[in-house]
Amino acid sequence: MLILIILLFGLGFIAFLLRYNFFRLPKKGIVVLLYHSVDNVKTQTNLDKFTIGLDSFEKQMRLLKKLGYQSIKANQIQYILDNQLYKKNKYIFLTFDDGYKNNLDAAKILKKYGFSAIFFISTAYIGKSLDNAAMLDENDIKELVRLGMEIGSHAHFHVKLFRKSSNYLDLYLILTRGRSRI
Ligand SMILES: [Zn+2]
Repeated sequence: MLILIILLFGLGFIAFLLRYNFFRLPKKGIVVLLYHSVDNVKTQTNLDKFTIGLDSFEKQMRLLKKLGYQSIKANQIQYILDNQLYKKNKYIFLTFDDGYKNNLDAAKILKKYGFSAIFFISTAYIGKSLDNAAMLDENDIKELVRLGMEIGSHAHFHVKLFRKSSNYLDLYLILTRGRSRI
């Protein structure tokens, strides 16, 4: 009896996973992927948890291309939503946080596959380092734009905003400083 219950539970669990597409990418819609650092160098910081190697990144892009995803820019999202195009097509919205120098290598791979991405940059670290990792400098950012990439603001400093301060004005300044620098 116990075995039967365990078996039924197991089957139910597998059905649940299949129902909610845990094993595969959705057939239609907008998939959003968020990346940080893309290289195999360990920083011995929290960043390592958010890092993948450039080779894995390229494999993922190759797969997305093979599956027929088209990458979209931020300003296309409203049009896609308004016209319900997400019901017919497979879109990928690729984003990168913080502005690591190795993102330039990722951008070259993106270009190779005809994709683009938006890079959210924390402007206080341009040309410097964060979590033991080198950050994009101004020329790198210009190169990203030349490669057809978009740039967005990830605030000026890289802080957990609501832990930093509950003062709305402080938060506003950190955010607008990043935006105006870009
Ligand atoms: Zn971040």
